[in-house]
Amino acid sequence: MNKLLALCARALCVIAIATPSEAQQTVTRLLAVKAGRLLDVRTGAVINNAVILIENDRITAAGAQVSVPAQATVIDLSRLTVLPGLIDCHTHLTYEPGGMGYSSLGISVPREALRGAKNARLTLEAGFTTVRNVGAKGYTDIALHDAIEAGDVPGPRVVASGPALGITGGHCDENLLAPQFHYSADGVADGVPAVMQKTREIVKYGASVIKICATGGVLSKGDSPGAEQFSDEEVRAIVTEAHRLGRKVAAHAHGASGIKQAVLAGVDSIEHGSFINDEDIRLMKEHGTYLVPTLYLADWFMENAQKLNVPPFIMEKAKVVLPAARLNISRAFKAGVKVAFGTDAAVYPHGLNAHEFAVMVKLGLTPMQAIQAATVNAADLLGWSDRVGSIEAGRFADIIAVRGDPLADVTELERVRFVMKGGMVVKNEGGGR
Ligand SMILES: [Zn+2]
Repeated sequence: MNKLLALCARALCVIAIATPSEAQQTVTRLLAVKAGRLLDVRTGAVINNAVILIENDRITAAGAQVSVPAQATVIDLSRLTVLPGLIDCHTHLTYEPGGMGYSSLGISVPREALRGAKNARLTLEAGFTTVRNVGAKGYTDIALHDAIEAGDVPGPRVVASGPALGITGGHCDENLLAPQFHYSADGVADGVPAVMQKTREIVKYGASVIKICATGGVLSKGDSPGAEQFSDEEVRAIVTEAHRLGRKVAAHAHGASGIKQAVLAGVDSIEHGSFINDEDIRLMKEHGTYLVPTLYLADWFMENAQKLNVPPFIMEKAKVVLPAARLNISRAFKAGVKVAFGTDAAVYPHGLNAHEFAVMVKLGLTPMQAIQAATVNAADLLGWSDRVGSIEAGRFADIIAVRGDPLADVTELERVRFVMKGGMVVKNEGGGR
């Protein structure tokens, strides 16, 4: 009881005493956020002088007509533009830029998990209150998810995939070691029964989404980004199994034929999509498949490749894939494919995720469309529209604020001043008063 009194002495709460039993007392925190400008990401409208009411971790009301209850604690963001917490649908919180090529072999699983704790904090402080983490070693991403949920470490809400499913010798295998080490990555499986078993195993160990490597990739040895990896039957088996178990499927795919194969098999999103062609675009629109492009990484990677000692077998692929991706993705944007925001943060330092917005706008999205990709669209892809991605009654109180107008200059999102996750203030750099 003393703890409750102490809390209330700071006028942060009202107490509803349901029964005399202390264990059954419930504490309600009432917050009112005053927003100078509120972005309604669902309609694209801007609401001036709005109020957001929050009860514990959820939003209960938002809009210009909402008044501030007397007992509510006020957070004054009246000089800022307020929008929902951002969502990054393609992160690798437990990986870092230094870990490309052979240097990655020296990173233990526990060390990777600890890196994840650091990067989760950086990502949250950058305004990303939810991420979909698509690939980690040793189930470090699941452990990170659990640690964040338990309140052990600060971080965004994490939808984690565990290890990515891939073929022997493919992009998601580990191809750097000599044969005598007899090593395969956690998610490697070949043949229909094996991929079914692997999908079930990954779900068993806590994955909320299934990630597959449908084509080769850039940051790996011995595989081609343009080439398919699994057979049609294997991809279909994974998608059927994942959907049966209530998990969506994210497919890493650069090459056009791999994109087509994955879309026809029923995956929920295409990651990267570097060589997406007209047929892929048509099929994705037909199937409602999301495109999760990862574009800013090209700028950072090319600037820093030398410093990072990137091996030649990666550089050769990067020089072809990264420029092509910008051209093709820009065409997909213009054709009106559904887009959800992703970054592949880990190729570059975590926390720079919002640099993706400016590239999206450069390639044809409006600032509002880019913001929608990182809010309502991303929430839809996650299957979390009822929880995150908008400032509406019933959603988690995941809220960020910036000083200027992100619709006029989308790079404002690179300078997030205020972050709240689940009604708790994570960062407040002022500017509100
Ligand atoms: Zn990735």
